[in-house]
Amino acid sequence: MNDQARNAHPGALAVAAVRALSPYIPGKPICELERELGIKDIIKLASNENPYGPAPEALAAMRAALGEVELYPDGSSHELRATLARHTGFPPECLTLGNGSNDLLVLLAESFLTPAHSAVYSQYGFSIYPLVISATGAHCCVAPAQPADAAMPYGHDLDAIVRSVRADTRLVFIANPNNPTGTWEGAEALRRCIERLPRHTLVVLDEAYFEYGRGCGSADGLQWIEAFPNLVVLRTFSKAYGLAGVRVGYAVSHPEVADVMNRLRPAFNVNSVAQAGAKAALEHPAHAERAVAATLAELPRLARGLESLGLAVVPSAANFLLVRVGPRAGAIYQQLLEGGVIVRPVGGYGLPEHLRITVGKSEHNDRLLALLARCLEEGR
Ligand code: PMP
Repeated sequence: MNDQARNAHPGALAVAAVRALSPYIPGKPICELERELGIKDIIKLASNENPYGPAPEALAAMRAALGEVELYPDGSSHELRATLARHTGFPPECLTLGNGSNDLLVLLAESFLTPAHSAVYSQYGFSIYPLVISATGAHCCVAPAQPADAAMPYGHDLDAIVRSVRADTRLVFIANPNNPTGTWEGAEALRRCIERLPRHTLVVLDEAYFEYGRGCGSADGLQWIEAFPNLVVLRTFSKAYGLAGVRVGYAVSHPEVADVMNRLRPAFNVNSVAQAGAKAALEHPAHAERAVAATLAELPRLARGLESLGLAVVPSAANFLLVRVGPRAGAIYQQLLEGGVIVRPVGGYGLPEHLRITVGKSEHNDRLLALLARCLEEGR
């Protein structure tokens, strides 16, 4: 390429591994659909957000924090880490805070992977994993998932995950419950899997939906942090605590892993409003508990509603459902958009006949079910 041509394409100067990435496609924001279709009264069931929002005390704390936004935040998030230490039972030196848990996935990949390494994740694992792995130039090892007719369709095959590990593997990502399937792993099976993973790998147990999964017997990874120095558990304030917009997540790990991640962590990655909101949310858990209970009450009702439309629904221990709508999934997604309901297509995950639907408030779920019934009827 001569100099002139290169100047015309500055993107070509980027690292090859980054140029090769396909960007993450988030759920369509309400304002974008409003702009595109000129419609109002839109509901978003696309990004597994919490429709009940944060605790009033968290909102009040964030409003108060706005009074000091001319100052940089506390780069160590001292108060939030102390509150989290009480909440988790682990000392602050085991905790790393992120701008959402997504930030921690990036930090882990950047800290532990190079082009000479590989990382493992499950076939229908969270789509950020291949992105953060590939950005480092490391190799993605995809473990085949459970078949469509298994008890946990499309869920993790823990044996396959163990088999996929190579001598150069440094990270194994396991989401539990998993997104986009909603499937989950019980404590015994998961512990056995972690035991079998070699010590030259760090096991990243991504528990973004932990609070929703407890009733189903989905495992709690924090119980194994002391037994397995190579285990990292990720949690987030984006789901049960209703704080997706301010971006706070945390990792619990061996202090040496936290120390490595904290070296690379941008100095002010968690802003002061987010720190205040997350701390207050932990101190006032009743609202989050009620929100999780309301979602868990709606989940089986939504699942039954979808099944009564003749659709196959994957069991879920999270705040969303993966549902097979058939070969017209793309058209149905579009028709739902036109009716003001945003759900999530999952063709990018290799599930072109499915949609992922966040469990909303009961009136949201009723509206979705009625609209979906009409779409299916019209397609017959
Ligand atoms: N892990 C999983 C499995 C997720 O589904 C998500 C959000 N969709 C995240 C991590 C990232 O969440 P956040 O960055 O908001 O904490």
